[in-house]
Amino acid sequence: MNSVLIASQNLGKLKEFQSLLSPQFSCVPADHRAPEVDENGTTYRENAYKKAKAYVEIYQIPVLSDDSGLEIDALNGAPGLWSARFGGEGISWKERFQKLYEQLAPYPADQWTARFRCILCYLIPRGEPLYFEGVCEGRIDRNPKGTGGFGYDPIFYSSQLAKSLGEAPSAEKALVSHRAQAVQAFLDWAKKNPHKLS
Ligand code: IMP
Repeated sequence: MNSVLIASQNLGKLKEFQSLLSPQFSCVPADHRAPEVDENGTTYRENAYKKAKAYVEIYQIPVLSDDSGLEIDALNGAPGLWSARFGGEGISWKERFQKLYEQLAPYPADQWTARFRCILCYLIPRGEPLYFEGVCEGRIDRNPKGTGGFGYDPIFYSSQLAKSLGEAPSAEKALVSHRAQAVQAFLDWAKKNPHKLS
């Protein structure tokens, strides 16, 4: 079986990758050697590449990294690239949701439409980066709901699932999620290009 190192220290993401990539790939989690990567790029691609490159340099094995974000129409696509740091580093998710609701308060509900975007980067030692994208459409819910998933899931309502991603069991989230779609694009490519995997 092929194996790939997941360039992330976010346990929520890691768990999703493990279940989305199985059984075609086994996921190697990062260990104490994992680098701290400054996600200061100006695009998701740039950030995903920075992470993949930093991990490949240390581990010297194929790496899959992602950069993702939540884009809200009323806020012209914010927090986007800043999703992880929205409202300040180190605040709780409850506080982060509160800050988001404060910013959204002046806008009517029909502008609370939003999407998650995920860009995956696959990089092998001495190789060129490959990118795969996934988008999950929905809207910001008036109240956080559910305790599943991670990050913004409780406030993201998926019309396809008719529930928030926080209320969706992981198998249901995988039917619509941005990361699941990007991983599927990667798996399709991998199936056609087994000789390019390492
Ligand atoms: P990054 O890709 O590690 O930079 O994280 C982007 C931010 O978007 C983090 O705060 C995540 O919690 C959030 N995010 C990314 N994907 C998801 C998701 O599937 N559900 C909820 N939040 C997400």
